[in-house]
Amino acid sequence: MHLFRTIKEWLHWGCEAEADFTLKRKILSVNVVALIGMLSFLAYIFFYWLSMNAALERLAGMTVLFFVLLAGVPWLNRGGHNVAARWLLVAALMGSQLSASLSVYGSFFNSYYYYILFAMGVPIVFPLRSWLLILAVFISNLGLFFLFRYSHFEPDPVLLELDSSTLELLSASYIFLSYLTLFFAVWFVELMAAGNERKLDKLSLTDALTNIPNRRYFEIALQQEIAKAQRNNSPLVLAILDIDFFKKVNDQYGHDVGDEVIKHIANHLRQVLRAGNTVARVGGEEFAVLLPEMNLQFAVEVAERMRQTIELNDYQMEDESLHLTISIGMVGVDVNESPENAYKLADDALYAAKRGGRNRVIALGE
Ligand code: GH3
Ligand code: MG
Ligand code: MG
Repeated sequence: MHLFRTIKEWLHWGCEAEADFTLKRKILSVNVVALIGMLSFLAYIFFYWLSMNAALERLAGMTVLFFVLLAGVPWLNRGGHNVAARWLLVAALMGSQLSASLSVYGSFFNSYYYYILFAMGVPIVFPLRSWLLILAVFISNLGLFFLFRYSHFEPDPVLLELDSSTLELLSASYIFLSYLTLFFAVWFVELMAAGNERKLDKLSLTDALTNIPNRRYFEIALQQEIAKAQRNNSPLVLAILDIDFFKKVNDQYGHDVGDEVIKHIANHLRQVLRAGNTVARVGGEEFAVLLPEMNLQFAVEVAERMRQTIELNDYQMEDESLHLTISIGMVGVDVNESPENAYKLADDALYAAKRGGRNRVIALGE
């Protein structure tokens, strides 16, 4: 478990300092590719060393060098040098392959399939605005693939002293491992993208001050609940809440205290409501509540509870407390009318509650 956490932290080196989701994902991808590269280098080093073949042992030595270069990639990211980290990654991967092809394998092995893997992986680690670089690195890798595939570079003769089944295994492993790596890289990128989308969705639908849903969320929820109520032929109630004489709070205690009061009220409203009921901050000091599958009579009781909770829980400051009240207007939603219409009716009810003296609940159609 500890090892898992350490690896996770290590993979995130350099991401913390960035605000941009895409750049974070690129940095993380660079670290992940470096880690996958290091793991496969380790496996190859071990295998080369086991083979007891002088050519492969020489390759093991070179691979150690490239392993060390790959290990430098997350360190560069950690220091904020994400462009250098990306290029070190490209250099270490392409360099390891190129030196292996030139000094040991020649065109003899399928090891050149790694160039296809590198070509496909380029858009994962480079930002898309660097499209020219992406194309250049892509084309260089494809070029190297065709070069080693079709012109016949001789391998190191010592290599051919290995028995034929070992040679066959090596040859097959290159194709297999390069495609396996590509598969997991795509999977990983999709996983990260999905995580980022979830975070962005949440951010765009949440009110930053109170951490409850915002107006945008509420508009979507209202439409969905109306559709659901229509399908199930069930009732739906919409309530709008507004803090009474809130301007006074701002005027007397300042905007910051005003903000804290809004948070205080949001927290209490959330506590009164059960799961399935939506409360959102739809304006400065206005909230909207959706009560599905509830008739108006019962919804009025819920609204009364909200009103009383606010009335009974003063906002505590260091040396004084603020007595707060809210007014609530509500309406049983007619599912055959538009959401805007329902909102307007609830707003009319709220206006009536204000005119009637505030700190009260008014329901239309009662
Ligand atoms: P009423 O009882 O009629 O509602 O009186 P009110 O003073 O509350 O009047 P209104 O609802 O029109 O007041 C809205 C005020 O809320 C205006 C503005 O100064 C304040 N306000 C709006 N958004 C914010 C906010 O995000 N933070 C703070 N501190 N104040 C806000
Ligand atoms: Mg208001
Ligand atoms: Mg108000």
